[in-house]
Amino acid sequence: MLRVVEQYSGTDTGRQRRANEDSLLARAPLFVVADGMGGAQAGEVASRIAVDSFSDAVPDDAGDHERALGELIAQANARIHALSRANVEQAGMGTTLTAVYVGADGVSLAHVGDSRAYRLRDGLLARLTEDHSLVDELLRQGRLTPAEAQEHPQRSVITRALGPEPVVQADTSTHPAQAGDVYLVCSDGLTSMLPDDALAEIINGAKDLSSAGEALLNAANEAGGRDNITVILFRLEEVGGPNDHAGVIIGADAGTPAPQGAPAAAPEARQDDAASTVARASNGAVRRAVPRRPRAAASPSGARARRRLRPRVAPLVALAVLGLVVAAGYLATQSVYFIGTNARGFVTVYNGLPYSLPGGVHLYSQYYVTGVPATTVAVPRRQRLLDNSWQSSSKAAEVARSLELETLPPQ
Ligand code: MN
Repeated sequence: MLRVVEQYSGTDTGRQRRANEDSLLARAPLFVVADGMGGAQAGEVASRIAVDSFSDAVPDDAGDHERALGELIAQANARIHALSRANVEQAGMGTTLTAVYVGADGVSLAHVGDSRAYRLRDGLLARLTEDHSLVDELLRQGRLTPAEAQEHPQRSVITRALGPEPVVQADTSTHPAQAGDVYLVCSDGLTSMLPDDALAEIINGAKDLSSAGEALLNAANEAGGRDNITVILFRLEEVGGPNDHAGVIIGADAGTPAPQGAPAAAPEARQDDAASTVARASNGAVRRAVPRRPRAAASPSGARARRRLRPRVAPLVALAVLGLVVAAGYLATQSVYFIGTNARGFVTVYNGLPYSLPGGVHLYSQYYVTGVPATTVAVPRRQRLLDNSWQSSSKAAEVARSLELETLPPQ
């Protein structure tokens, strides 16, 4: 039987963000990282709701852990989505989520977005999650090299998140565990700053997980600290083995998770590698890109980017890919409309998506300005009206027109 004998968790705002929108839960046998996005503290709200959904309810060890984790993700998604529909300031908020549960039959994961889980075994680091990001998809299709992906200006655009849609598809999987395995769960503030071999080198070189975790946070900051950084590390050992220092027994007493370092009861749960399965859900139907707030240094400096590219071919491939991305993005922005307010507070119909890219490039343009100041619309209606939801041009124009007619003084 394996148990969590050592763990570390830490989060850092980084060097370029003012607030930390990451949230974490480290309560063996459950570990969760969430990375929120959305303006005006909405990202913090989203990632906190996501993590809290897991602290309320730990999956029952007797059941199907992947399914239990998936259900918690569905609940968290519904909560965040409902809140983002109800509050103008939180419209469009979302979060990534990567949850790891150490069960009797292996380590189960559920995952949405571009936070990651890794396993370090015998000094070798293996990534257990696939990013739901534009860049990772291009990478999987062989259209970018890893070096190009690392510098890609769109690398912060994720294609799946909790919150933006009423339903979200999570990837789930279960992996056989071994004594001595170290697991890393982290936000992209770590992995966008450090390549995988640097992560492995830092963990392998540290005397314990606390110093490994601190060293990872420090290294990400030294590399620029462009985003919030969250790191969870935990190590599994055989119960009663030479490295067992009274940790938490895996899979035992899962209904009431034992606090870190406390011995748990019910030792009948068994580790059974043979029974473990790997079942990764295929990509779901949700393909909507969720642009994040621009990273402070999202555009790579030209010199640094160029050094990483192979001469001749790589720049052409990168240009072609960028061209496709821009063309697809442009087409997408032209077919949708949303209603907001302009700088002077008048209700305005916009053509495009309610987002801006790094560098101040807006994905929308002003389409029609009504003569109606937003403040003259009753509050409950104003919230519904200005929630930035996507609409067809005829629907948006109709809403704007009826609004103008209603607010005309009676003849
Ligand atoms: Mn992040």
